[in-house]
Amino acid sequence: MPRTLFTGGRWLEGPCYVPALKSLVVSDVKANRMWRLGDDGSSGPFRDPSENANGNVLDAEGRLVTCEHRRRRVVRLEADGAITVLADRYEGRRLNAPNDVVLAPDGALWFTDPTYGITKAEEGIVAEPEQAARRVYRIDPSGRLDAMTETMEQPNGIAIAPDGRTLYVSETGAGRNPAVANGIVAFHIGADGGLEGRRDFARYTEGVPDGLALDLDGRIYAASADGVRVFAPGGRFLGVIATPKAAGNLAFGGPGGRRLFIAATDAVHVVDMKVPGIEWRAR
Ligand code: MG
Repeated sequence: MPRTLFTGGRWLEGPCYVPALKSLVVSDVKANRMWRLGDDGSSGPFRDPSENANGNVLDAEGRLVTCEHRRRRVVRLEADGAITVLADRYEGRRLNAPNDVVLAPDGALWFTDPTYGITKAEEGIVAEPEQAARRVYRIDPSGRLDAMTETMEQPNGIAIAPDGRTLYVSETGAGRNPAVANGIVAFHIGADGGLEGRRDFARYTEGVPDGLALDLDGRIYAASADGVRVFAPGGRFLGVIATPKAAGNLAFGGPGGRRLFIAATDAVHVVDMKVPGIEWRAR
């Protein structure tokens, strides 16, 4: 059973372990605040207000990268506390509301851009989308922004396999488009860096997968209504790490990268696993 690290959030998201701070950073999207939870048991505000921050990840240099619903952008936090905007527009129009972000082994940052941050007043500012699609984007290490696919209805959680050749994205758009199945979609990342070979990796008959994480053996961990659903690399369902309330996101970190941090509604739970999560920066 998971151990509870923190309670007192409203809708916690985007856990990200920051070794330099010996802390987990976690977003409370609805409370418009980010928290820092120290290995020593301390806790306190990290960014407050947080622009309704959602997903977080460390870039190749260990800097915190954050998806902001309220300002509809992906930003990087610099050592001096300054914010650098990495992406806020595509083809001259504002993004929808970047939701979750992952680091690829080549140093690129991939993120999803569904509409939740502009359709739910408690998660951002309600607005008409300026984009014609809800895409997955890639920020090249040079800073260039590319749209990678617009085949998803509402791309949400995102992860990349240990070989750097498979991209996993949560599809949560069945409520918006009944022709779509909620679940985890996998893409092959081709030799030219583009996406090909879209396939259904796991289908959900109830609930949705939100945040995703992978371990070094390639297992997929999906934050879900009943907890963390775990899948073998081939897609076989292995089981669920149950949480008291719905899980929204998760990340590995902590000692040896084996601690699985689970953001589940108002609480953060931890489980110490046998196999570490992927940590590209350690390569
Ligand atoms: Mg999400």
